[in-house]
This record gives sequence, structure tokens and C-alpha cells, in this order.
Amino acid sequence: MNLSFDQQHIWHPYTSAINPLPCYPVERAEGVYLHLQTGERLIDGMSSWWAAIHGYNHPLLNRAAHQQIDKMAHVMFGGLTHQPAISLCESLLEMAPEGLQRVFLADSGSVAVEVAMKMALQYWACQGNGQKHRFLTPRNGYHGDTFGAMSVCDPINGMHSLFSQGLPRQIFMPAPQTQFGQIWNEDDMQPMQELLERHHHEVAALILEPIVQGAGGMRIYHPHYLRRARQLCDEYDVLLICDEIATGFGRTGKLFACEHADISPDILCVGKALTGGYLTLAATLCSEDVAMGVCQGEPGVFMHGPTYMGNPLACAVANASLELLNTGQWQTQVANIETQLKQQLLPLNRLQAVADTRVLGAIGVVETHQAVDVAAIQKHFVRAGVWIRPFGKLVYIMPPYIIQPTELSRLCAAIGEALAD
Ligand SMILES: *Cc1c(COP(=O)(O)O)cnc(C)c1O
Repeated sequence: MNLSFDQQHIWHPYTSAINPLPCYPVERAEGVYLHLQTGERLIDGMSSWWAAIHGYNHPLLNRAAHQQIDKMAHVMFGGLTHQPAISLCESLLEMAPEGLQRVFLADSGSVAVEVAMKMALQYWACQGNGQKHRFLTPRNGYHGDTFGAMSVCDPINGMHSLFSQGLPRQIFMPAPQTQFGQIWNEDDMQPMQELLERHHHEVAALILEPIVQGAGGMRIYHPHYLRRARQLCDEYDVLLICDEIATGFGRTGKLFACEHADISPDILCVGKALTGGYLTLAATLCSEDVAMGVCQGEPGVFMHGPTYMGNPLACAVANASLELLNTGQWQTQVANIETQLKQQLLPLNRLQAVADTRVLGAIGVVETHQAVDVAAIQKHFVRAGVWIRPFGKLVYIMPPYIIQPTELSRLCAAIGEALAD
């Protein structure tokens, strides 16, 4: 592989084009392993950013892709439809929290968030409530890299502060403070209550990541926050958008993180694991009330339509991935991963470099006092035979559900060794 071409001409996410962090060349991937061109075999702790929940090169996902590509890879979704999309939307509505009735297929998580935000804006505008055009959101959120999504990411650590001039001004409140498993403190709701009281006339929706705030800090919070958020949204006539792009499809121990609080949002975003890590696809689900509201009055249609909307190939693989979830062992697998992470990752709290450790479902987080040296720690991990990609003060893993206990032990041990140095 021509790595110097890569270095000189190809952007990689969140690294300098002038002085990029090293990239490791992958030749193939199988099960829980990434095989490097240089011969190493790495246990994947990242599931390629939450996506590859069933592991790589899965025979059933491969078969679904092969079968679909021999029929058609893509057709436009305007005026045409197909079985892969119909089956997928049926399954999503079946699996998702109650009350969601309509599905918009988007081509990435960020786009699904844009779609959710546009739905909320259009919902109010079409009912003559155009002044409800802002979004309320907790700090430490992450919702994607496009402009609408950026506007609701954490304004400081959200990686987008540079663009703040050009972004719509949203309303931020402190992140939820009571952690999952702690005793609920109702004071947590005060900022939300106050801001809704003051701003509800101009707020279209509250947008948040249920239970686990991902790339904005890997924070795991109390389900009652979400339950109270649902109540306050109803009370103040504000829509609730739940971004389950990271948490969806079993990752937190429930199929959707909303289930920890037993609530349904008005609008739900899913992505990442939707295709089991094969192809880019996301979806925005909404209630019948939202769909009706959006399509009342002028223009009478929802103003969005991506070229690759409902891509049959991606839908076919997503169908196979959901089938695997629905017939498989994910609940046992995720519960076992959680137990093991609690045994092997939580104790790293005793290390001097470590500020906090936390676990929920198949997510393990070690927060350090000082930002880690990514290049150095990555080198250590590769030498230890694992693939873990930290950012800032967060060393975290969310392995494929199929990972075996001995493999998970190696991930946890590698983190312990890296931070003990
Ligand atoms: C990754 C992520 C997104 C953005 O998804 P992309 O597919 O990267 O555009 C949005 N919201 C959350 C919670 C995410 O984790």
C-alpha cells in the first residue's frame, strides 16, 4: 500500500493534513479481528465506531449484499420503491419504541439528524408557529458534523467551535449530572425546566442522546433525566428528538436506550450499527402526529430527498443485520460483555492516571486526568494486538457483540498497561 500517497493526499478524520497521525494499513477483517498488511492481527475494540456489531466479514451479511447487488445496487427513491426498503422500514417500526409510525431513510447519521431537525422546524412552521425555530440541547452532546448537527453539538468540546459564527444559535443547558446507577437528584432538571419556561415559545424541539452521550464525552446518565425530559416536552409543547445513532441496536443492553426510561420520542434517529457496519445508512423515524403536522398546509411535502435515499444494497444488508439481532444472542452477549467490563475495566480507577471508569452494556470508558498521546498509545495498543482509538481524555471500547471473553480480557489488559506506564 502506498502510505506516503495516503499521507500526502488523503484526509482522514480529525487529524492534520500537514502532520497527520500515522494510519495503519488494513488488508482484511474477519470476526472480531482486523488484519494489518504488516501481518499483525488486532482485536477490534471500536466496532469501527459503533457499527460492526456482528463482527467483520459475516457470512449472512455478505450473502445479503451479494444477492442484492446481482438484482440492483441502486435506483432512485423518487417515484420508485423496492422490497429491501419496505422490509427495512417494517422491521424498524416493529423494533423501535412505541408510537413511531413513519420512516425517512437517510444516507448517514449526520443527515438523519439534519432531517430530524428540519422535520421539527417544518412541523411548527406548517402550523403557523414559525417562531418555534430553535433547539434546546444538553452540553456534551454530539450529533454529527453537518451544519444543523454541529449547531447542537457541545459548543466548546464539540469539535466545531471554529464554526460557531455561521451556526444557528441554539439553547444549551448543563449536561445531566446524575450518573446511571446513582441516586436520582431532581436538581438535575432545574436548568431544563427554567429554560423551557423562558424559551418554549421559540423552541421547536429538545434534542439529546438518550442515556449515553457519545463523542461529546462518553457520559452515562440517569434514565430518570430522560423520563422527566419527556414529561417537560409534553408540558411545554416541545418535540423530543432522541439521537440513538450510537446507542441503538442493543449497545446499551436495551435494543434502544430510550427503553431504559420507558419513553418514546417524537422523532428518533438511528444509524451506525443499522447495517452492521457494512454500508452507510441511517433513518429518521417520527410519530404520525409529526408526519401529519409536517405535511399540513404549504408546501405539503417534507423538503428533503437525498440522491441515494433508500439505497437497496444498504437496505438489504441492514435487513440481514436486523434479522441477526432479532434471532440472535445479542442480549446475552451484551450482558456478558457488561459483566466482564465491570470486573476488568472499572478497577482501573485505582491507577493514578485515571479520573473515572464507567460501563453500560457493551460500552466501557476510562477517563484520564490528562489527554492521552494518541500516536504513542495507539502504537502501544497495536503492539499489544488490539485496536483502540482514544480521543482526548477518553480511552473507551465498544467491541463487536461476538467478542469472546479471552479477547475482551486482552482489550481491558491493554488499556490497563497503557495507563499504568
Ligand atoms: C456518529 C454519530 C452521529 C453522526 O453520524 P455519521 O454517520 O458519522 O454522520 C450523530 N449522532 C451520534 C449520537 C453519533 O454517535
